Amino acid sequence: MFDPRYHDLPGDWHAEAQRLRPARQTEHAGVLEWLLPIPGVLTDPPSDLDVPVNTFEDPNASIVHLEHELLADRLHALLNQAPTRVWDSTNATWTTVMDEGPSVRPQDIMILINSRKHLPDLVDRLRARHIPVMADRQGLLLMQPVVQPLMSILALMAHPTMRKAAVEFARSPVVGMTERQVHDALLSLEEGVPVIPHLIQHAPTEGVQQLLIRLQRLMQWGAVYDVFDAVLDESDLLVAYPDDAQRQFAEGWLTIVQSIGNDTGHDAGAVYRRMVEIRELGRQGPQAITEPNASAIQIMTIHGSKGLQAPVVVVSGLFSAGKADASMSVQDNILVTPQVLAGRIQPWRAKDRPEDGLWAFAAEMNKAQDKAELRRKFYVALTRVKDRLIVTGSPGNQSTFDETTGALSVRFAPDPRTMGRMLVEGLRRATWCAASEAPWISAADLEADVLPRFVSQKFQTPLNPSALLSSASLGVDGLDGLRMYHHPDCFDAVQTQSPQQRARALATHLEELEPPQSETLTPLRLVENIKGAAHNLDATFNCMRSYWFEHVKGWPAEPFRLPNTAVKPSPPKTWPEPTTFGLMMHRVLEIGLRNPRSPLEGAPPLDASWMHEGDDDLSSLKTVERVMNEFGHGVDQPDGSREARWRDRLMHLGSLIDQGRLGRLVQGEPLDGWTVEAVRTELPFFHRHRLVLGEDGFSDHPVPGFNGAVVDHVNMDFSGRADLVLALVNEDGQGALQVVDLKTRGCLGAFNESTSAGGHPLQGVPSTELNVVPQSDEEAHILHEHRLQLALYSLALEAIESRKPSHQQRQILPPALLLGANGRMIQLSEGAFKQAKDDLETHLAWRASVHLNPDLEAPPQRISDPGTCQSCAYFMGDLRRCAPLGEPIGFVNPSDGSP
Ligand code: SF4
Repeated sequence: MFDPRYHDLPGDWHAEAQRLRPARQTEHAGVLEWLLPIPGVLTDPPSDLDVPVNTFEDPNASIVHLEHELLADRLHALLNQAPTRVWDSTNATWTTVMDEGPSVRPQDIMILINSRKHLPDLVDRLRARHIPVMADRQGLLLMQPVVQPLMSILALMAHPTMRKAAVEFARSPVVGMTERQVHDALLSLEEGVPVIPHLIQHAPTEGVQQLLIRLQRLMQWGAVYDVFDAVLDESDLLVAYPDDAQRQFAEGWLTIVQSIGNDTGHDAGAVYRRMVEIRELGRQGPQAITEPNASAIQIMTIHGSKGLQAPVVVVSGLFSAGKADASMSVQDNILVTPQVLAGRIQPWRAKDRPEDGLWAFAAEMNKAQDKAELRRKFYVALTRVKDRLIVTGSPGNQSTFDETTGALSVRFAPDPRTMGRMLVEGLRRATWCAASEAPWISAADLEADVLPRFVSQKFQTPLNPSALLSSASLGVDGLDGLRMYHHPDCFDAVQTQSPQQRARALATHLEELEPPQSETLTPLRLVENIKGAAHNLDATFNCMRSYWFEHVKGWPAEPFRLPNTAVKPSPPKTWPEPTTFGLMMHRVLEIGLRNPRSPLEGAPPLDASWMHEGDDDLSSLKTVERVMNEFGHGVDQPDGSREARWRDRLMHLGSLIDQGRLGRLVQGEPLDGWTVEAVRTELPFFHRHRLVLGEDGFSDHPVPGFNGAVVDHVNMDFSGRADLVLALVNEDGQGALQVVDLKTRGCLGAFNESTSAGGHPLQGVPSTELNVVPQSDEEAHILHEHRLQLALYSLALEAIESRKPSHQQRQILPPALLLGANGRMIQLSEGAFKQAKDDLETHLAWRASVHLNPDLEAPPQRISDPGTCQSCAYFMGDLRRCAPLGEPIGFVNPSDGSP
């Protein structure tokens, strides 16, 4: 194939031949088949639309249709292990061919095509025989049938009165109106009136009406993606387009919509505008690419098959592959090759172009290079196969098949620009090398010492496929022959249906369908696992609307910022970011807090994880220097630098904690009857909070049937780390655990080291005050703000303890906060702790209903509440998406900060 004899021009662009070493591990010989379609007696196509057209008798059928028909029949026989026949033209009979080797599954077959132009015809013919098939690409994603209705819904979300989208949507399988129904409905739709309510009034069935009502509600909420989910899950869209490829296209389209939504603030108008721009990209737009299905025939281009292999490979359209490429480049007026660039002109329209030597040279070179590339492609196509190679196509446009006389002939005149020509040249050479006989080589050529070049024949050559089976040796040590199938009679007859019959069969099937007997069905029982974060429990309890935004609307819980308006990096600040400083302080506590490690005999035992060594001074320079170094500020900080201030502040806060209740407890001092035995910092936990549903669902938040299934119970999963857990024991030897969470509010700019009265309000109570009850409004407020988070940590500890034998269990004390600003520990009272647990339970039940109840409406806006709203992600940013009741929302004016 790569022999220099085929080089039209010398050049370094030609591939070189190399020895192939097959790695097949089977005793069965490989098989070469040639599907060479030759029509029989032509008749007028039937006028009855219920009679399928026989392609091989149809005078209008093209050679491509014949090839595809023959290929579909061949693959049907192969998959069903049916015997095949080849024509014996000497005796005018059929010779049966038995297949050996393992059975073939659809996924073992790969069909290689040179262009996708005729792909739909091939797919249709395979599907008509119920052969599962999947093409790697099927044109443009936005032109796929499953995507069109989704686009029309997006259009209606962006422009609720758009009539064009209304027509598309009404005719789609989602609504399923007939032409007349669409016409009647739209005639009564006045200009400028929203479409969806009108379609609800004119819905063809009650089911569609319910779906449209639901879609309308989701659209009103702005739950853009839930609208598409509802359409895909609940409408007939995927029933009308049931193949896996269409499902993948719908998913691919949704992925694009979601990524555009992330960039544009999830606004349907902006998303639609961008999707229209993408559609207008035409061929440059996103392609309809599919992931191969595990049990379907793969169709792909030769180019796309590089690196792949399959037991059965079909190379189709060989005798047209290459024709179009060559004729296209001839039409160009500029030719660019790696070596030379040439143009041609036509100054006088009425006359021929002037002759141009450079153009003639470049055109020849381009042709030679295209051919060399085509040879490489042909080589790739032929070498993808493991066991059975099937090539399709006819080498000439004149052929004869007469079943009565036995005559079968074809003219070997393949177009010199095509892969088919390469195939014929290759077969000639293989036969010549084997000194065998075959119709594609003449007796004179066989006798020649050097094989003459192939010349297209001007006459018909008789064929005898039966003789070719075993007496047409190909190459030295090659195959004994090949199987040539030329007509559907070579295979068992396959009953196919005309398009009208198929439509009728589908309609009958749908009419005969009995509605499922719902009472006999056992509903599927589901367990839902929902992940959550402990840190925002209190925030979403205070304003449930924010949780609804995040999980129903799909808005990320971050302020929305317009592109290119990112704040310029500000000059170094006096203090680090509060979160960074918080992390530094947590680290100081982690490595500097003294661990008493003095378990009391008789108290519930503590495992080895509690017995780690701990420094005994939070305010030690060694501890703080280590933390400064870990956060990238070096071991030493020059005097007067801002880093030195941070270091001194950490040490100061550490000394406050050392003086306070925690410092005294870890020094072994009993307080309120409790002594600390050991401490654990950064205790990791995973907590699964199980919410059991009663018969009617959650008592306050009923959950309807979940797509026909029953939600048995819901697991709310939380994982994280508790800052500090104290293991305590009282005078009676009773053991307890207590969660302590460090808060560093008021520890930076507002903090006053010299006079607490002039500093942050939290500094109002001194560290030496040992009472755990909040002593100021500020203390009470911060404790209340974090009570659900603290309750969750405590519940996690309770769950861990409950799994131990009863004599090893410890009581869980009400959780506490450790305030960095005054070094105090303040804890929830027993009553507040119980109330926090109850509120947590209610809130988690509500969170579960957000995920399970599609009809749950948005919680109301808060009544004017500067504290909660101003720190809310949906209030901040360049676009105010929510605000306290009565306040405006919209894009924020940068000059005055108002929407
Ligand atoms: S802005 Fe206020 S009302 Fe709106 S979600 Fe945020 S906290 Fe709730």
